[in-house]
Amino acid sequence: MTTPRITLNDGHTIPQLGFGVWQVPPPEAERVVAEALQVGYRHIDTAQMYQNESGVGRAVAASGLPRADVFITTKVNNNAHRPTDAAASIQRSLEELATDYIDLLLIHWPLPTQYDGDFVSTWEALVAARDAGQARSIGVSNFQPAHLEALHRTGVTPAVNQIEVHPRFSNNGPRAANAAQGTVTEVWSPLGQGSVLTDPVITAIAERLGRTSAQVIIRWHLQRGDVVFPKTVTRSRMVENADVLDFQLTPEDLQAIDGMNKGEEGRIGPNPDQFD
Ligand code: NAD
Repeated sequence: MTTPRITLNDGHTIPQLGFGVWQVPPPEAERVVAEALQVGYRHIDTAQMYQNESGVGRAVAASGLPRADVFITTKVNNNAHRPTDAAASIQRSLEELATDYIDLLLIHWPLPTQYDGDFVSTWEALVAARDAGQARSIGVSNFQPAHLEALHRTGVTPAVNQIEVHPRFSNNGPRAANAAQGTVTEVWSPLGQGSVLTDPVITAIAERLGRTSAQVIIRWHLQRGDVVFPKTVTRSRMVENADVLDFQLTPEDLQAIDGMNKGEEGRIGPNPDQFD
C-alpha cells in the first residue's frame, strides 16, 4: 500500500492514511499494531492517555521495519501541561515507545480553564522538545480557532491540529482556521466511532460503487485533503480500511456526504471550549 504523503509546514511529510489506537486495550496493542504494520499501515496515532504506547513501541521494534519507515504520533496528556511536567512526560513517551524521536508530538487538549489555561507555555515545552530532537514535528489537538490564535505570539505554527470530524460533524470552521495558517487538519473519530456506517446516504453510495460504508467515508476524508486514521482491532477491517486508494467519489457523492453535517448536534466528543 503506497499511501499519499502530505507535506507539513515544517517540511516533514506524513502519510495521509494511518491507524488509530484509542481504546485498544494495552495488552492487545502490540498484536493489533503488529497486524496493522503487516497490512501496510505506516502511520500509528497513539497518546499517553491511551496507555498503550509501550505496545506500539514493541510492535514497531518487532516489525523489522526501519524506524524511519513508520510515522508515530503521540500526545502530551492533560495532566502534564506545566512545562516541567510536559518535558518529563515526553521523556516517558520516548521510553514507552522505545524510540529516540517522535515523528509528531501533540498537545492532546487545550484545557482552557486548567493550569490558568496556559497551554501556550505547554506549547513552548513542545517547541523545546522539537529543538532538542525529541520530536520531528509538533502540533495540537482539539484546538479551536481562538486557541490557535493564542499560539501566534510564540512564532511557531502547529504542523497539524487533530480534531473531531466525520460526516455528521464536518467541523469546517476549525478546518478553515487550520488551512488559513498552513496547519494540516487530522481528523479523529473519522467513522463517527462506527455510528455513521449505516446512514442511508453512505450505504447508497457504497452500494453503487461496490465498496463498503467505511471505505466511502475514508475516501470522503482523503478527498477533503485531511489526514485520517480509522481504528479497528479486526484484521479484515484493517485491510478494508486501507483498500481505499484505487477509487474516487464523484463531486456529487462528496456533496451528498457534506449534506449529512448536523453541526454541533453531530458532535460525539466533548466541546474543546468546555472540556477540562
Ligand atoms: P473511528 O471513527 O475510527 O471508529 C472506530 C470504530 O468503528 C471501531 O471501534 C469499530 O467499531 C468501527 N469500525 C472501524 N472500521 C470498521 C469497518 N471497516 N467496518 C465496520 N466498522 C468499523 O473512531 P476512533 O477510534 O474514535 O477514532 C480514530 C482515532 O482517532 C483513534 O483511534 C485515535 O487515534 C484518534 N482520536 C483522537 C482523539 C483526540 O482527542 N485527539 C479523540 C478520539 C480519537
